[in-house]
Amino acid sequence: MSGRSIEDYSAPLFIAWQLTNRCAGRCLACCEDSGPDRGWVDELSRDEALEVTRQIIGAGIPYVAFGGGEPLGVAHAWEVFDRLAAVGVAIKIETDGARVDDAAAERLAGLSVHCLQISVDGATAATHDRMRPGSPFDAAVAALKRAVARGLEPQMVFTPARHNVAEAVQAFDLAVSLGCGAFVTGPMMRLGRAAADWDGLACDDDAWARTVDALKARAVAHPSSTKLSIYPWDIVSELGHQLVEPHAMLLIVPNGKVKILNALPFSPADLRRDTISEAWDAYRRAWRSVEVRDFVAACFRDPSLLRHANETWPLST
Ligand code: SF4
Repeated sequence: MSGRSIEDYSAPLFIAWQLTNRCAGRCLACCEDSGPDRGWVDELSRDEALEVTRQIIGAGIPYVAFGGGEPLGVAHAWEVFDRLAAVGVAIKIETDGARVDDAAAERLAGLSVHCLQISVDGATAATHDRMRPGSPFDAAVAALKRAVARGLEPQMVFTPARHNVAEAVQAFDLAVSLGCGAFVTGPMMRLGRAAADWDGLACDDDAWARTVDALKARAVAHPSSTKLSIYPWDIVSELGHQLVEPHAMLLIVPNGKVKILNALPFSPADLRRDTISEAWDAYRRAWRSVEVRDFVAACFRDPSLLRHANETWPLST
């Protein structure tokens, strides 16, 4: 996508779709503030979700990533996956792994899921379970094993915080020992529940820099088939990059509203009212709007404004 602008594309290249905001976890660093009681009352119904799926396929969008909440906890999720996979749309699923039993792992393998990410926020059950109450370590590790056994090359995702950053290298070792396709990490995002307790949760910049060096050194000293993937930017840096060159993507939140980025509260379209094509036009106008540019500039001055990230503000563009 480098060197090309969103104006050059007649449709998004990528959809990020949150089917629900409900999940079993109460993870400290959740960037969506999801949980067992956090489902939205107006989440898309099965029929509405399948209509969105039909439009995604019709628009020729090649890649859809499902996050949440827990996508595998949605009754119609498999119908959505089946329809996308049947026409060759690549699928990414971000899950806590608790629902990836043998049958689900078989089904995911049958769909040739392009990317399966499972969060493990510690090298030990004690640390992980402290970071991710309700999202057990043993279930996540068992899901990774099932996915590895079926050739899915799952990615272990590790979110660093002051409670677990000391175990990052051990967690990488765990990913290697399990045969994961990648160990994915990066600065904790100041969004959702993480933003609400940022001062109590975030590790300091020096600790993270030392951890990055240690992870890279480990990967060099112990080469393996597990790729080490370290996202370089925190969320404020990400905002700056997106403002200059927005990704050709739409974020669909559980009630069908379309947001321009998970870190920003602006929702220029609603798939209950607008088509994907109309949403794409609104998305592109939104990124060039004064309102969005002013808000991003304000976030640079005051990152605490990211507390609004999970809201959906209308935007007339
Ligand atoms: S990180 Fe995942 S499992 Fe944990 S609260 Fe958020 S959505 Fe739920």
